[in-house]
This record gives sequence, structure tokens and C-alpha cells, in this order.
Amino acid sequence: MATPDTYASYRVPEPPVVPKWTAFVKSLSNETEYPWINVAPSPSTNDGGATGGAANGVGAAWGTVANAATEVFSCPTGFWALSFDDGPVLTDQAMALLKTNGVVGTFFLIGSNVVNNATHAKFVQDLYNAGHQIALHTWTHRQISLQSTDEVISELIFNILSIYNVIGKVPRYFRPPYSAIDDRVRYILHSMGLRPVIWNIETLDAEIVTPPQQAPFGIDIAGQNLTVPLSIQHTENSFNQKYDPRWNYFPSSTQIGTTGRYTYDGFISLEHETTNTEIQVAQAIVPFAFQSGLKSVYVNECDQILPNASFYLDDNSLLVQFIKNINLPLTDADYAAFSGFFPANPAGGSSINGAPTTTDGSSSVFSGSGSKSSSGSGSSPTSFTTPTANSGSVHYPSEGKKRKQ
Ligand SMILES: [Zn+2]
Repeated sequence: MATPDTYASYRVPEPPVVPKWTAFVKSLSNETEYPWINVAPSPSTNDGGATGGAANGVGAAWGTVANAATEVFSCPTGFWALSFDDGPVLTDQAMALLKTNGVVGTFFLIGSNVVNNATHAKFVQDLYNAGHQIALHTWTHRQISLQSTDEVISELIFNILSIYNVIGKVPRYFRPPYSAIDDRVRYILHSMGLRPVIWNIETLDAEIVTPPQQAPFGIDIAGQNLTVPLSIQHTENSFNQKYDPRWNYFPSSTQIGTTGRYTYDGFISLEHETTNTEIQVAQAIVPFAFQSGLKSVYVNECDQILPNASFYLDDNSLLVQFIKNINLPLTDADYAAFSGFFPANPAGGSSINGAPTTTDGSSSVFSGSGSKSSSGSGSSPTSFTTPTANSGSVHYPSEGKKRKQ
């Protein structure tokens, strides 16, 4: 959720569609059981829930009952998963804050940010080495509920590549930009073995405009502009499950019944790490939440559909094997229409056709019967060698105009 200007700087050109990538993901899907992968994007008149709107014809978005069946959107009683979106940018400052407070974090990284410069790529390695959880947030931060399936797959795979090429791992967890998700996007993720994460506390840190401006450029409800102190106050009220009518479009336990939102006793909080203002909010909220007695956990520890899942996909999963075999820069052949059986077998193991519907062997996220992958955090910083980190041989789509930070 953000005012349009907040993310204007992320409007880089869309990544190219790569037909064989789409063919691969479709080969993992069970289109008979779940045909959504072939449906059209949500109409542009429907924001997929980015403003808390109603569900569209093929699914719902954050804050609705449909979240319970698929997304990770809350934590068990007494648990708190802190998440930072839109980095890596000021990741070093965010990490220092977490270290000071003895808190762990999950970082949803934008692929084009990762490859922006060597410092950002180093932050990915730093996060990994520190044991924080690295997760996906698309390549360009577009609202994927409005994109074609081909485009969504490219957004995801370029995002994965940007991280895989630094740490040699494919993150399992993904947060859709603006938390806009529908059933088609859910099923694309499901086919790839990825798990969507939403949140139930929004700090509003990305909505603060300095100096404060009136809506629509800044949040202005009941005549007040959002400032750092008001963001902090709003967030503390949220942790206390205290309904705050000034910001009444975000989840509150008092809204159950009228919105279908769930009650919760544990939290996934949403922060950002792209501006000093956002870091200022975090500097107040992190100690507040920690000192309130909540146990600091990673988002995967709040995943009740795939409990005990690790941060990253198993190295032998079909998706990881596929990613491993992608060479950048792309060639003309990569852009050619794909025909025929795909791919013979990227993993050198069992056939893709007829395989389980997720890359890690779980039968169905929707039925909650996912298999357990290796338990624990899955972070073991010294257990692999970094592959092609920033060697100069890896090329990503042009980012076009520069982002504001
Ligand atoms: Zn974001």
C-alpha cells in the first residue's frame, strides 16, 4: 500500500518475457486442477487489494478471509516477525539496529535494487552471513496482479537470479508489492514452490512525506498529515491491538465482522529500509516491540501451512535446478517462442510432467499438506561457495531511469 508517488522511482522498464521460463513454470503447474495460471490479469480498475479493495473475480487480496488459506499473514500468539521491504538500500543501518536490539529480520528485496551497485549486492551477502532471512519482492516493484502471467514469471525469476547470483540460494518467501495478490498470482507462486507473505501491522513508514503534504501525495486522514511521530504512535497502537480511527483502512481486530479480517495475537510488521525517515520509525518500533515481550522470529516460523519450512528452497528442487542453468545475458534463443517438451529434465531426476505441483514436492499448498523441507532456519552461511557474484558476466535488464535514493 502506497501512494503512487512513493514508488514512482521504482517504475523501471519491465523485465523481458522469456518464453521458456513461462513454459517451465507452466510445466510445474496443474492447470486442470488450478486453471488460474492461464487467466487474464486483474482489470486495472481493480487494484488487487492494494488499497484494501474488494476481492476480484479470481481471488482476494490482503486483509480478507482468503489470506488464511494461502498466505502467511500473522504469527502465533506472542511471536513477532519483523520485515523490511524494498531494499537493499539502507540495509547496513537496518542490520545495525537489529543487532543492537537482539532482533532478527526478514528482508524482502527488490531484484533491480540488488544489482544496482556493488554495495547493495554486498548487503545481500551481509544479511545472509548475519543469519537474517532473505526473501523476494519482484524485480521492479510493479503491481503483479495487473501483469500478465508471463510478466509475473519474469518479475519473479529475475528477482530470484539477483539473489541466487550472490548467495547461491533461492528464497522461498515472497511478498507482492503493495501486498496486491489474487488467485492467479497465488497459483503462479504455488507452482514455483514459493510462499506469499503479507502482514498485519503496517508502520506506514513509506507513506511519510517530508515535509508533510496533503493527500493524495501524503496520507491525510481527519486533517492530520502523517509524520514520523504519528507513524510510531499508529504502530504502537497496532501492537497493542488498539483501533486507531485516524488510519482506519489498516487491519485492526476491532474490524472483524465488517471486513472479514482475522483476529491475531502475534504479528508480522511491515517496515521499509529505503529512506532515513523509514529507519527513524524502525529505531522506535524495534525496541518497542522487543521490550513488549514478543519473541522475535522469521516469517517462515509463522507459516502454518508449510510449518518448519526453511528460508530457501532445497537445492535439488526443480526450480533451483532451473535457476542454476540460466545464463545471463540472455540470448536470442531465450526470447524465441518455446515449443516442444520442456525441458527434458533440468534436475536430471524425475520427469516434470505429472510431478507434484510444487517444486519441493509438497502436494498442495491449498490443502495445507505440504511436505516438510529441512527444518530450522536453513541459514548456514559457510556451507556453500558463492557462485557468480557480480563477476561482470551477469547482465540484467536495463533499469532505465535512476531511482530517487
Ligand atoms: Zn514494497
